[in-house]
Amino acid sequence: MYAPVDPQQSFPELEEQILERWRERDVFHESIRRREGAPRFVFYEGPPTANGRPGSHHVLSRVFKDVFPRYKTMRGHLVHRKGGWDCHGLPVELAVEEKLGITQKQQIEEYGVAEFNAKCRESVLEYVDEWNRLTERIGFWLDTDDAYLTLSNEYIESVWWSLKQVWEKGLLYEGNKVVPYCPRDGTALSSHEVAQGYRDVTDPSVYVRFPVKGEEGVSLLGWTTTPWTLLSNAALAVHPDVTYVRARVGHETLIVAEALVERVLGEEALIESRVSGAELEGTAYQPPFPYISDYGERGHTVLPADFVTTEDGTGVVHTAVAFGEDDFRLGEQYGLTVHNPVLGDGTYDERMGEFAGRYVKDADPDIVEALRASGRLFRDELYEHAYPHCWRCGTPLIYYAKRSWYVKTTAIGDQLLAQNESVDWHPEHIKHGRMGKWLENNVDWALSRERYWGTPLPIWRCEEGHARCVGSVAELGAAPPDDLHKPYIDDVVLTCDECGGEMRRVPEVIDVWWDSGCMPFAQWHAPFENEDLFAERFPADYICEALDQTRGWFYSLLGVSTLLFGEVSYRTVLCLGLILDPEGQKMSKSKGNVVVPWDVLDQHGADAFRWYYFTSKQPWDGYRFSVETVGESVRQFMLTLWNTYSLYVLYANANDAQIGDAGPATELDRWILSRLQATTETAIEQLDDYDTTFAGRAIAAFVDDLSNWYVRSSRRRFWEGDPAAFWTLRECLVTVAKLLAPLTPFIADAIYENLDGGEPSVHLCDYPEPDHARRDEQLERAMAAAREAVELGRAARAQAKLKVRQPLREAVIVAAGEERESIARFDELVATELNVKGVRFVSEAEDLGNWELKPNYRALGPRFGKQMPQVAAAVASLDSATAAATLRNGGRVGINIEGQEHELSADDVSMALQPLEGYQVERAGTHAVALDLELDDELRREGLARDVVRAVQDARKSAGLNVEDRITLTLGGDGELLEAARAHEQYVAGETLATSLAFDGEGATTEIEGRPLSIGLERA
Ligand SMILES: [Zn+2]
Ligand SMILES: [Zn+2]
Repeated sequence: MYAPVDPQQSFPELEEQILERWRERDVFHESIRRREGAPRFVFYEGPPTANGRPGSHHVLSRVFKDVFPRYKTMRGHLVHRKGGWDCHGLPVELAVEEKLGITQKQQIEEYGVAEFNAKCRESVLEYVDEWNRLTERIGFWLDTDDAYLTLSNEYIESVWWSLKQVWEKGLLYEGNKVVPYCPRDGTALSSHEVAQGYRDVTDPSVYVRFPVKGEEGVSLLGWTTTPWTLLSNAALAVHPDVTYVRARVGHETLIVAEALVERVLGEEALIESRVSGAELEGTAYQPPFPYISDYGERGHTVLPADFVTTEDGTGVVHTAVAFGEDDFRLGEQYGLTVHNPVLGDGTYDERMGEFAGRYVKDADPDIVEALRASGRLFRDELYEHAYPHCWRCGTPLIYYAKRSWYVKTTAIGDQLLAQNESVDWHPEHIKHGRMGKWLENNVDWALSRERYWGTPLPIWRCEEGHARCVGSVAELGAAPPDDLHKPYIDDVVLTCDECGGEMRRVPEVIDVWWDSGCMPFAQWHAPFENEDLFAERFPADYICEALDQTRGWFYSLLGVSTLLFGEVSYRTVLCLGLILDPEGQKMSKSKGNVVVPWDVLDQHGADAFRWYYFTSKQPWDGYRFSVETVGESVRQFMLTLWNTYSLYVLYANANDAQIGDAGPATELDRWILSRLQATTETAIEQLDDYDTTFAGRAIAAFVDDLSNWYVRSSRRRFWEGDPAAFWTLRECLVTVAKLLAPLTPFIADAIYENLDGGEPSVHLCDYPEPDHARRDEQLERAMAAAREAVELGRAARAQAKLKVRQPLREAVIVAAGEERESIARFDELVATELNVKGVRFVSEAEDLGNWELKPNYRALGPRFGKQMPQVAAAVASLDSATAAATLRNGGRVGINIEGQEHELSADDVSMALQPLEGYQVERAGTHAVALDLELDDELRREGLARDVVRAVQDARKSAGLNVEDRITLTLGGDGELLEAARAHEQYVAGETLATSLAFDGEGATTEIEGRPLSIGLERA
């Protein structure tokens, strides 16, 4: 006997029971123990940060991280799943700043770096309990007890080791470069971070005179949208191949590009002469501000530069060496001295006269006024453009020359591209699209951050400038600090090997992405210990994160492992898309459209949530979802499965079915078992290809076949206790449970436990293998044809508004050849399903109607004139079927008018197919089915008898009887109903399990088509 199944089962409640069982039986760890020694399938957890609550997008990545390790385990692999947490970085610091009310970097120093970092340490695991609770609740099997933390000394030491390897290869260097810089946070940003923060802003656009030395009244006209950089103008740049003009405007002569002269100076400008950019080279001019003058020999002269365009401005570009990449390179090329008069907090230093101490962006209007006062301003306007802002704090970024540390990834650019080729990307276009393009445009990795909470950059320097990269804690000497973070690490003083002087650490920490790129070895504290574990579990067979990680973790993993080991650390990547609300809007707190995962889990359960993510679309296409859309998964798939399962248990228990005794199989049994093999094949093929969408949909299609065709067509056999039917349905349900186990682990285990239970959990079973001997594709095709005929027949019945219980005389099916044979093979089944007494076949759709032929008056009128009435009569008397066939085949038919023979073609006759009278036809393509709607008394009585049975079944249910209970039945009421029941007495008694049937009218009264029926029943 099986445990009874509640058809109204709440899935969230069921899942809580299963979770309890998994805990009791330690199923997760047992599933790993069972595969000791088996071939490994290596999974890496891309570490999230637990300083905020997990959201629905985290559920997305976590269920995809779960499904393939589960699948591979069932397929015979050993799959360890070590958890991990990302702990460092600017987002963590900013969250703590917000809590402390800190708005400037300086305040952190005042607050105390030790205290500040202590707060960061607390905050990164603030929500770790909720994360762990959610992880368990959604069925993500992950070793959270043994998770790696990027803040641990062991992890940091492994990261240091990696940097020392890079250092020894000569690929870690300090460079002076222009970097995008957030003055609010006081740190440079990576190109990835900059890409996230563009906003449209309006900035001043100024045209400035740069008077040519030694030529009274002549100026080069320069243009800029960042007036604050004019204070440190170092040179002007022109394109050597562009033609410039000296143009007379009023009392002065201005030099601009010819292509822009009208736009900038207007139509009145008088062109005095033309000159090439190359000829302008070396022209000396007077700078707009006097603060810095020593830019070297070429300072404050015109320089040739290829980056100058004539798309906007004047074709003469103001150059401030410290504030633009192009400017900086130009300065390097011509030996300009680099002066950066802007401090780390975005204010001018003391050299800048009246502007010293001002925040640069705020100084723009006063700089414009100063230019106006000195007569240097030619024109000022407003200019709207997209400008990068800090993605974390919203401050406009400045491009700023500063010293920072880089990893020379450009030295291994070809290797990165080659390694990317070996990766199996899902979707495939990422390889040469998003990822490939990113790698092609690779720039050196800006590694250092002038911040506090991160892995300290392990470089120590003496006063002489000798530098050492520390690659282990042992190298720190006898008394290393207990905590390797700032500020403690900064107390460590080393002795210089070269000069014997004191070495102190550089102040920076490193980019948090380098941390996560080190996880393949750092999670094991390799190479300091566990080198064997690292070796066994490198590279990963599978990783999975959101699409944007091409510039994040996917890149950092690739970069670090290629630098260190010359190979990529993963084989297969699954990329996930965005989660949007049903209107396609990004979810955000301010819009109030965020779906909290707990709401979905409490209402529909984890299986429904997983099933929605796995099957509703390809995961990289993104989702538009709400709590309700997940509910659709429950209604469309899970309830179908659950109802089939509960029906099996109900009838198996009622019949005390003994499993193991299959009995002779019917064609229907062989069909569903063949479909089961086909489904198993597809599921394996798709899951091997990391595709849950098509694996899941194939399983769902099978469950639909099982429920809506196999069980529906076999009800009588379950009723009667046919062992073959029980054996077959149980086989299907247990196999489906195993097929589904990686996708919907809860419902799968519930079904397995009750119907089989040979193992402590379905998750300890092997994944099903298709049994090719049970596959019969011809049978599947035949059944598909029969089902299509039934679908059409049902549609015809619905069109005629005839209830399903009313038997009909016949169904006429259009089918020929193999198709007809296929349907004929199942004609009994088709007849039962359509509730018709017989099935008849015809070969062509025309056979389902009568052709009506009429003369075409427009064609025949001129020909026959007054004889038209006779022509009409002659056409009407033709054998319409034969004539229509002849005409439609291009032939002619003869008529005799007053003794004369005439021939008519298809153009002379209009033909219309009139449906067979008394039939309802339903067509789809070349297929058609017609039902004979004519009812005689016998059919009507049988229909009524079926209505009576249905009413008695309802009464049995209301009386709380079990399906197998026998009853004594008494009917009364309307004469015609009773007559119908009497005429089909055996049928009525058999269907309702009545041991006796009387017609003396006692009991509760109901109605059938307005006729009263009283039903009295008692358990026999
Ligand atoms: Zn910022
Ligand atoms: Zn030294």
